[in-house]
Amino acid sequence: MAEHSPAERFGVWPGDELSSMNGQVPRDVIEYQLLADEPVVDLQVVRGGIELEVTVVKQAGEPLGLEISAAIFDRVRTCDNHCEFCFIYQLPKGLRRSLYLKDDDYRLSFLYGNFTTLTRFTEVDLERVVDQGLSPLYVSIHATDPDVRSRMLRNRRGAISLRWLRSLLDRGIEVHGQVVVCPGLNDGAVLHQTLAGILDRFPELVTAAIVPLGVSRYSKEAAMRPHTTEEARTTVDTVGEWQERFSRAVGRRVVWASDEYYLLAGLPFPEPEVYEGFPQHENGVGMVRAFEQAFEQEVEAGTAQVADVIPARTGFFAWVEGAPAEGYRAPRTRGAVNLVARPRRAARDEQITILTGGYGGQTLRPLLDRCGFDRVRVLTVRNDFFGGNIAVAGLITGPDLSRTLAGEPGGGRYLLPDVCLSKGRFIDGSSVEDLPRPVEVVPTDGSSLRRLLAASRAPR
Ligand code: SF4
Repeated sequence: MAEHSPAERFGVWPGDELSSMNGQVPRDVIEYQLLADEPVVDLQVVRGGIELEVTVVKQAGEPLGLEISAAIFDRVRTCDNHCEFCFIYQLPKGLRRSLYLKDDDYRLSFLYGNFTTLTRFTEVDLERVVDQGLSPLYVSIHATDPDVRSRMLRNRRGAISLRWLRSLLDRGIEVHGQVVVCPGLNDGAVLHQTLAGILDRFPELVTAAIVPLGVSRYSKEAAMRPHTTEEARTTVDTVGEWQERFSRAVGRRVVWASDEYYLLAGLPFPEPEVYEGFPQHENGVGMVRAFEQAFEQEVEAGTAQVADVIPARTGFFAWVEGAPAEGYRAPRTRGAVNLVARPRRAARDEQITILTGGYGGQTLRPLLDRCGFDRVRVLTVRNDFFGGNIAVAGLITGPDLSRTLAGEPGGGRYLLPDVCLSKGRFIDGSSVEDLPRPVEVVPTDGSSLRRLLAASRAPR
């Protein structure tokens, strides 16, 4: 509980358990927040097994100051799909339990940007979304052909659940979509058909990210394989064609291929303006361009912030008091900044090494060279933990880092992007303290990295 907060002033004690507010039992932080916004809030709390009532009087909209231990108070709605491409089925055993949770809950879509397939969405949910204005939501489309979609989700309801997407759009809810492309399943002609289906049936969709299937070495699905270079090129071309059609029809590009496609295809990234404000940045669309732009602007102006380049996608969650994102999809960069060690000023000529994943390695080197940081090393951490085609920095694990660092000479500074940590832990559960040498955890955005390198007097 926050000190001197209204809740404390009116008699709530640390350790009290909240059981109702104004006679209602909130089901999640969304309802909690709506109730907490009232100027007079009657709280029913349990203290040492005894029920008590506390009335809090405050300004409308003023935070109560309570700490909430979960975002969903009833049960997270889990998905009833069994997608061949599901990354949760491709995780090794023994990771923290929350990682195995297959959520398909529109509330988490609203709060954290998790994608929902809508296969468990109901009329009551629609009513609530509209009444409470839970917008934007994030929907996994994958295919607009009913047969292909139900086959991909391995769920009969997959064939019909996009009707809810139509209902949401009809009621003015903003929706972002994604298509996970599995070679041989929904690429090629099926992808064309899906994009035509979006334009035809869901033209109000704000954006659609086209992302490639990720395959770890734990996948048991024989048909699931990474894209070839040729397939990646074809997908980029397909998306380009449809961007033109969408632009002509609705005045927006709507659809983007994720950065991974350009790296796989060996193609240059589109110019920053093509991303129209980076609306799917957190889904890996335009991340490289946004990073470069933030880094380069910092070089030129010395003042640019990443927020100047990427509009903050904080949304509703930013004003919810204290509800943690851990366990679902934690905010990747901004939320993790709290964990970041303060960059220290390095001795002149101290070697700086940036640790990153395979994709980061491909993009950082040319950028550093271009901006005069040619003496900064980039050390790629191969992902043996997951294997397969997993090369994003966010999935770097402790064991892979340890192996990489073990072969390094003594001295120098090692910078690690915070995106691979959640509450100070790698996905395998280890922490930076378990590594064989000290590393500095740094924010993942371009402005922060540039400032840190400049402060270390690294450029020559
Ligand atoms: S809908 Fe998502 S969580 Fe559920 S099986 Fe498919 S990929 Fe996994």
